[in-house]
Amino acid sequence: MSNPSKYIIVIGCGRLGSLLSTQLSQAGHSVVVIDKNEASFRKLSVQFSGFTIQNDASELHALRKARIEQADCLLALTNQDNTNLMVSQIAKVIFNVPLVIARSFDPQREEVYRQLGIEVISPTKLSADAFSQALANSMPVT
Ligand code: AMP
Repeated sequence: MSNPSKYIIVIGCGRLGSLLSTQLSQAGHSVVVIDKNEASFRKLSVQFSGFTIQNDASELHALRKARIEQADCLLALTNQDNTNLMVSQIAKVIFNVPLVIARSFDPQREEVYRQLGIEVISPTKLSADAFSQALANSMPVT
């Protein structure tokens, strides 16, 4: 199956964003990662071949610097649900980014994102499912 290269903007270069940025870059995509904290970029692997921008991602000029109007996809992966929601809305509504996916710790916010046409992944919900599954798997069969 072909895997055409995409232009992907990643917001947040912490534990999640740095790992994903490296994986996407290694898969052949063009990646720009934005983080407000310069030290966060140290988490990127040496395999990362994209660009970094140090700025608060909720500021429009940072998104413009990342050429958001040309992005195929934006991943909002900061540790702040409010920031992820705001940046996702800007990407979708102002810049018409075709695919926007956000990290939301609060599973109850999922509906808000979906109504805006933004995909959402809740690590909290994924963890709850994984723990339940691990528990079910370790229960003795009676
Ligand atoms: P982690 O929870 O380890 O995946 O880290 C989240 C990352 O999001 C950290 O590196 C933060 O510096 C970054 N971050 C949080 N708020 C913002 C923001 N407004 N703009 C850019 N990066 C942010």
